[in-house]
Amino acid sequence: MCYFIRYMEPQSENGQNGPQQNFDASQAVSNGAPRTLIGELGKHIGKTVSISGWVDVRRDQGKMVFFDFRDRSGLVQGVVLPASAAIEIAKEIRNEYAVRIEGIVNKRPEKNAQADRQNGDIELEITAIEVLSPSDTLPFDISGDTSGIDENVRAEYRYLDLRSKRMQKNIKIRSEFVRRCREFLFSKQFTEIETPLLTESTPEGSRDFVVPSRLNPGKFYALPQSPQQYKQLLMTAGFERYFQTARAIRDEDLRADRGFEHTQIDLEMSFVEMEDVMNLVEEMITTTVEAMGYTIKQKPFPRISYKDAMEKYGADKFDMRTPEDKEKGILAYAWVVNFPFFEKTDDGKWTFTHNPFSMPIPEHVDWLLEGKNIGDILTTQYDIVCNGYESGGGSIRAHKPEILEAVYKVMGFSKEDLEERIGHMLKAFRYGTPPHGGLALGVERNIMNLTGETMLREVQAFPMTRGGKTAVMNAPKPLDEKQLKELGLKIDKK
Ligand code: ASP
Repeated sequence: MCYFIRYMEPQSENGQNGPQQNFDASQAVSNGAPRTLIGELGKHIGKTVSISGWVDVRRDQGKMVFFDFRDRSGLVQGVVLPASAAIEIAKEIRNEYAVRIEGIVNKRPEKNAQADRQNGDIELEITAIEVLSPSDTLPFDISGDTSGIDENVRAEYRYLDLRSKRMQKNIKIRSEFVRRCREFLFSKQFTEIETPLLTESTPEGSRDFVVPSRLNPGKFYALPQSPQQYKQLLMTAGFERYFQTARAIRDEDLRADRGFEHTQIDLEMSFVEMEDVMNLVEEMITTTVEAMGYTIKQKPFPRISYKDAMEKYGADKFDMRTPEDKEKGILAYAWVVNFPFFEKTDDGKWTFTHNPFSMPIPEHVDWLLEGKNIGDILTTQYDIVCNGYESGGGSIRAHKPEILEAVYKVMGFSKEDLEERIGHMLKAFRYGTPPHGGLALGVERNIMNLTGETMLREVQAFPMTRGGKTAVMNAPKPLDEKQLKELGLKIDKK
């Protein structure tokens, strides 16, 4: 590890650096004033302060050296005057060094003030600089938009990419969105509960990522495509209102708005009908995004049937914004309802369109139980679309064993298959499971809409590359022989 601290050494009388034993601790920035955030400097005009952060820009003008310093709260310009004890070290430090600075907060003369910049009316007259951690020259420029940089290079140095203004903003917007949704749900008496990551396959229409079990060689866990079954079991368990910020892990083809991992604001409620869940989610979204300063095109969110959406837009996700709306960053939400429950697979079998655990609309429950008009059965599924993305979806669930059984029967499962797949759910449903329903909001797609990003990876801290390689770290990679043996695995070298 490379870590060094340089203190400003006091000058001895002959102008040479004084010997170490004469070192005056009061000059060491690290012993000085407590840290002031750059965003708060305006409150300290005329005072000596200490700030910590990064060198954003350094402009060496020969006699004087100018800097912009950056911390989590913003930027400030600093200057090292020729007579300053810090002038020598100022010449050495470079962009992206982590530093601690001591200086006097000076008001800039009126003519030098920059009204359009944060701290544009002040300047830090630097008296001491402490290098907390130096930086090699960065592999790419982070002062502007990094989206044009080679994806693999950005991924390798993601921690530097994340320093850029745009990425800082995206990740902070994400954090605020999740925080506000969470606060809203707490205000509505939801309980936050985590569900397992090592679990059994839950179908969401994707491939599973699997994890071999050392204790049970030849057996595998599946990573959850969603917490669907566990959240329903929490309704059986009497929690009535559950949510979590859940990871959903799906082995699907990577696309601009799809990754192997995404995050959901996942919720489930007992004793509810479609309206209850939809109204609550609509209120959560409205409260959250309006508090963040966004404008919603239409409230309440318009509702459109799947059939009408297909006729009007040719897709079940669509963009209702005018070019002007787009310019203004307006959010156009809509609900899509009345989806068909089943669709035909390529080999002529029936499969679910959204979620096998859903309830058909009340008028079609009998059809399902009788196994007739299968293609016409509509589900209680409700999808939320925004600016062209499907940004969430949910349904009222089948909470009676015979309804869930009927769904699996339509899909051609034998009694044994059914027992093997969902026996635990059928069993739980025999113990007073309340009627329930819920929804999951895709965090990334929502943040893409808030930030105007068109790639999922621009709103995740450590996304994978298009080739499925992890950011910074080097996965996937082979296991060594010992691990393979322990897990009872043999690799087919072909
Ligand atoms: N589990 C569903 C999904 O991941 C969401 C839900 O129906 O609550 O899409």
